[in-house]
Amino acid sequence: MWDATKCNLCGDCLVNCRYVDYDGDKAIAEVRLLMEGKDAEILSKCTTCMACMDYCPTGADPSDLIFQLQEKIGTSPIVAVGKPVLQELAHALEGHGEHRQVIPGDPDKPVLSFDSFRFEQFPEGTLDSQLFKGMTVVRGYDYANLAGNVHMGGESFVKKYGQRVLSNLASLGKEIVFIHNEGFVLPGVKAKEYGFKVNFKYMHLFEYLRNYVRDHKDNVTSLNKKVAYQANCATRWMHEYDAFLDEIFELVGVERPPRQYDGVDALCCSAPLIYVNRELAVDIQKKNFEDAISVGADAMITSCPICYGVFRRPSLQYKLPSIFITDLCRIALGERPWPNCAR
Ligand code: SF4
Ligand code: SF4
Repeated sequence: MWDATKCNLCGDCLVNCRYVDYDGDKAIAEVRLLMEGKDAEILSKCTTCMACMDYCPTGADPSDLIFQLQEKIGTSPIVAVGKPVLQELAHALEGHGEHRQVIPGDPDKPVLSFDSFRFEQFPEGTLDSQLFKGMTVVRGYDYANLAGNVHMGGESFVKKYGQRVLSNLASLGKEIVFIHNEGFVLPGVKAKEYGFKVNFKYMHLFEYLRNYVRDHKDNVTSLNKKVAYQANCATRWMHEYDAFLDEIFELVGVERPPRQYDGVDALCCSAPLIYVNRELAVDIQKKNFEDAISVGADAMITSCPICYGVFRRPSLQYKLPSIFITDLCRIALGERPWPNCAR
């Protein structure tokens, strides 16, 4: 959450932004405009990657300020593209109709929330996997993560509808595992910022998978591969959960060689740009995949259905398989073969 009292106008956030080429003076001038609530060039250039949250040395969270102003001023191309989607979501969250799908499971098993995604946006067979056997499955606007709406000019959605979604989840009366980590952000990060009540237990997907693979390690075949990881933007809200990912990689026998676009320097998957600047989107994908290939990666691991969907095209182009994190575990457990996408 933006905290103006922490900003010392150093300009580091926008000097380090990969999607503009600002020197210190220009960056500071842009931050000044933002702090005055005025239109600034960065509002139209920003891909909503959230990297500047990590680049800010004081924890002021400039990305949040940018997202607030993108919504308020409305001149950013991503806001125009996202408008119909947000209108539909707002209509649903205002209580017009029921927007939920619930597949009941065993009483003693947790819920697996797909938030508002369609099941087809995840790898084939996910619902039938041993990983999630017996779990109640839910999806629909009533369980929408809301935090991800910043990519469409919907920064205010968490504040407006966060408690409603959390109450919908609480009414399930079970622990919730979020298959998309932006879903976890709502109870795990945003609820604290806004003072929402979270009347249910919840678990990050990485912790759930780490537990499952660790508890079934006798069934795991070490994959003996190198991988690159595409951290989706939501991971910047909760870096502490990356430790579970490291454990999963170790348990399934994959190595993650250091590369340029990793950690704080991870690139945007390019999804927010596809409809507003396709040329830039394709260029980002190229840099990302060529970087992964240059360190010998056998696959690009994703943990977000949006990244996973966007990477279908470059995965085929560069012949580097894109594997969703749940599928990496399924491969190690013998449920699926390693994808054949030979270079
Ligand atoms: S969110 Fe990403 S693209 Fe936007 S200003 Fe920050 S670093 Fe740049
Ligand atoms: S938001 Fe952070 S990085 Fe940006 S100018 Fe302020 S203190 Fe510096």
